[in-house]
Amino acid sequence: MSGVDDQKMKHVIVVGGGLVGALHACYMAKRGYKVDVYEMRPDIRTMEVVRGRSINLALSCRGREALKRVDMEHVITKTGIPMYARRIHDLDGTLRSIPYGRKDQYIMSVDRRHLNEVLLSEAEQFPNVTMYFEHKVVECDFNAGTVTFKKSDDSMIKVQGDLIVGCDGAFSAIRQQMMKKTLLDYEQIFIPHGYMELCMSPTKQDQYAMDINFLHIWARNEYMMIALPNQDKSFTVTLFMPFDIFKTLTTETAVLEFFKSKFPDSIPLLGEKYLTETVTKSKALPMVTVKCSPYHVKDKVVIMGDAAHAMVPFYGQGMNCGFEDCIVFDDLLSKHNDDLVTFTETKLECVALLFCFTNFQANYFYCENINNAEFLMRQSVNSRLFL
Ligand code: FAD
Repeated sequence: MSGVDDQKMKHVIVVGGGLVGALHACYMAKRGYKVDVYEMRPDIRTMEVVRGRSINLALSCRGREALKRVDMEHVITKTGIPMYARRIHDLDGTLRSIPYGRKDQYIMSVDRRHLNEVLLSEAEQFPNVTMYFEHKVVECDFNAGTVTFKKSDDSMIKVQGDLIVGCDGAFSAIRQQMMKKTLLDYEQIFIPHGYMELCMSPTKQDQYAMDINFLHIWARNEYMMIALPNQDKSFTVTLFMPFDIFKTLTTETAVLEFFKSKFPDSIPLLGEKYLTETVTKSKALPMVTVKCSPYHVKDKVVIMGDAAHAMVPFYGQGMNCGFEDCIVFDDLLSKHNDDLVTFTETKLECVALLFCFTNFQANYFYCENINNAEFLMRQSVNSRLFL
């Protein structure tokens, strides 16, 4: 441990034990802070089924750098699947590849649940980290540095810390408290597109149904489908399209006709029965973009990850960007000898700028080009977005 000695050990309350909260807990523990992580859900390591978002995620070099600093890169990448190029599925069935970089460069498909579980377990290894599950934030007093949580038995508990870190996702309760009590600019946009996840099972010979080391993309102007490989030889396929179109796919015939006209080569790979049944029975989920400023209130509270800058999933950057927040924060703490007062008074805007840039870059491509997925894809080659 470094930074803060035991006698003056500062107490950090991390709200949210998702991807960013769990990683940030490792960073702060490594610096010698007393870290308490409060998570609303039960411990996912004990759950059979974890409801929620995507099954797998594209981990890029930005996220890997952040894992490396707390010696976790190898633990995560050893179960990841390298994707060296985009594999483009044209309407006529032609396959083309667009590499992510040099021959040895790739992004990686990682399992969300596994990643979150490993990060939680790693954080728990530190003697100065304690995890509390089924604790939901209901209120904060930033002046007093207190947070009130509701537990699963409906009882309330109030805790006090030197710093509150909101890593509680796109609909952050900590951010809402900041909005009520400070002059926080905030923008939230639900895009007209929804997403639906499908599973492409292994073949009868227990092989991957498509080439494994690619991020598969079906770019069809305002529709788009992508597929990332999983360790169990399946692919997670995500269909992005306007809710208005999803709404028309109410019968199995409509789904089949739609896929025949837009994604014909995917039908035998997904299986006609599975495809039509799943699309008619499933609900497309919304995608939200969040921007806000500033990201902190004095030296008392800061928000990170999706709480500060949620972005649409098809950039493949939300987690990577959130992981990078941990690096930026860590660097600033080092620079200011862990003095949160001088750090927040003089420098936190640097963090803000960095976040804003990432968000701006991502949103620029969205706003200008969402109606042309092919164009978006070409632009992203230069901007290192995962499409
Ligand atoms: P979350 O993962 O949302 O975690 C927040 C945590 O806070 C949760 O555990 C939640 O239970 C807890 N919480 C919430 N409210 C409270 C409360 N009141 N009290 C206590 N706890 C609370 N990003 C990439 O980099 N690459 C990808 O390929 C990629 N693919 C994606 C695909 C999809 C379909 C989606 C939806 C997103 C994708 N993302 C991707 C984005 C990525 O999932 C997010 O950016 C990332 O999960 C953000 O992590 P986080 O820890 O900030 O928030």
